[in-house]
Amino acid sequence: MTMNRLLVTGGCGFIGSNFIRLMLEEYPELSITNLDKLTYAGNLANLADLEGNERYQFQRGDICDREFVDTVLKESKPDAVINFAAESHVDRSILDSTPFVTTNVNGTLTLLDSCRAHQVTRFVQVSTDEVYGSLGDEGFFTESTPLAPNSPYSASKAAADMLVRSYVHTFDFPALITRCSNNYGPYQFPEKLLPLFISNARNDQSLPVYGTGENVRDWIHVLDHCRGIDATLRKGRIGEVYNFGGRTEMTNIALTKLLLKLLGKPESLITYVNDRPGHDQRYAIDCRKAETELGWAPEVTFEQGLQETIDWYLNNEEWVDNIRSGDYLSYYEEQYGDR
Ligand code: NAD
Repeated sequence: MTMNRLLVTGGCGFIGSNFIRLMLEEYPELSITNLDKLTYAGNLANLADLEGNERYQFQRGDICDREFVDTVLKESKPDAVINFAAESHVDRSILDSTPFVTTNVNGTLTLLDSCRAHQVTRFVQVSTDEVYGSLGDEGFFTESTPLAPNSPYSASKAAADMLVRSYVHTFDFPALITRCSNNYGPYQFPEKLLPLFISNARNDQSLPVYGTGENVRDWIHVLDHCRGIDATLRKGRIGEVYNFGGRTEMTNIALTKLLLKLLGKPESLITYVNDRPGHDQRYAIDCRKAETELGWAPEVTFEQGLQETIDWYLNNEEWVDNIRSGDYLSYYEEQYGDR
């Protein structure tokens, strides 16, 4: 299958920007169009190094805007579309769910309709393990775990997954779905746990840990996730779901203490704050299907990836500070108070 032109949506965000950079490095013949609305989470600085690169094109716009999506598809004629565009932060979905339904559900539907009309031959929907809900102390999410989303964010992603599934079954639409655990790495918006805590600790500000910090998350390096999406795109079977995870389960409090240790900062910076409403207890991923069918395996160890990630945020203070001084400040104050 020819795969020389990709359309990536949401490419100015955390994972999309890492994906675009990695793909252009890995495939010299490849060119990529990036369609992004540039919400608060979209940042042109994430791909500033690609300015002037002939194999990269940026189109600012909304995946909910059918006319715009049609035009981009008509002009860029992609061999495949990868949909990263989303409202992605659980806490924001609790403050206001509307943009989550608008972009994650209606936007995905618009993309599906437009891609179908333009006979796109591969469509990858980038989803999340959060659609499976929460686990107890035992067990793992597999691709056949029933969907049981618990937050407005995960409900909107699950709805999008169902639409994608229905288009495969009803219209033979050539889509695949990936579901991944918590990503970490460079260019992550500093409202998410790792960049938030690294930046706060750097500034000797408190680290707000939800509840008792006993919630368990599985961590995967963003480039391992990106390699998984690429493997899905090239080797996945139409209509299938592939789970990705890093086999690195940790409680939030253990991760916070490890971070402080690596940063040489005291544990007294930890502040326990009211738990997130409906906070899922544990996520853990069974990714054996991706390993056996796609030949994928995580390459970055957590030890190495975490240290590199810390170094990246410490060495890119300007990138972090530019974001933290913008609209983000008022959100942070609403969420955690003026700490
Ligand atoms: P992000 O919030 O960093 O980036 C989202 C990007 O989408 C931004 O550039 C934003 O401007 C763009 N966008 C938002 N609404 C849009 C719209 N209506 N039209 C066009 N562009 C729009 O998110 P992320 O962490 O990079 O996540 C990317 C995808 O991966 C999401 O679909 C998310 O659900 C999924 N995912 C994330 C994780 C994680 O740990 N971050 C894990 C699993 C899956």
